[in-house]
Amino acid sequence: MKLDNTDVRILKVLQENGRLSFRQIADRVKVSVPTVSSKVGSMENMGIIKGYTATLDPEKLGGISVVLSIKTKPVDIKKVAEQFQENESVRQIFMLSSGKLMLMCTFHHQHLINDFLSKMADIHEIIEFDIANIVTVVKENQRATVTPESSVVLTCNYCKKEIHDNAYKVKKDDREYYVCCPVCQKGFEVKYDGIKADSVNVKA
Ligand SMILES: [Zn+2]
Repeated sequence: MKLDNTDVRILKVLQENGRLSFRQIADRVKVSVPTVSSKVGSMENMGIIKGYTATLDPEKLGGISVVLSIKTKPVDIKKVAEQFQENESVRQIFMLSSGKLMLMCTFHHQHLINDFLSKMADIHEIIEFDIANIVTVVKENQRATVTPESSVVLTCNYCKKEIHDNAYKVKKDDREYYVCCPVCQKGFEVKYDGIKADSVNVKA
């Protein structure tokens, strides 16, 4: 699925400033307020807009950031990645095509880095790792970029597979959901209505 020019312009404006009102976005993009509201709503539903957050400055908050590169056996990489998932100091985890894991972490004291490293020593699946402090942030933007050629990879709300052809829309309670085929559409509707009926029964 492709984004249209208005989608792209709205995303660029929002990426600059997520606090703008629909009216302000409409003025900048030169479309109507209802157009902005419906396009933003459907891009939220599609998961293109993941949320609206304040961008904080880690250094001003006294954070020490480090980049870790971790080598494991290919069979262990997922398991090792999962061990870091709940750790608040680990801010980003990337699995790389090189077979390594890259972690971006922010700590508030040097001794917390040492604690972290000693806990890492208990993860036997780690073959070797590299750690370096971030000294200067030269450039740090969001990874997402939007261009008029951006195509959207949707995930089927029923079978969870990626949708590469046309998506089917299901409208439920004023929200649009995307599915990959008529079979998933039927399945999703039955499941959705079932969950809804259950929650109504619980309330009653
Ligand atoms: Zn599907």
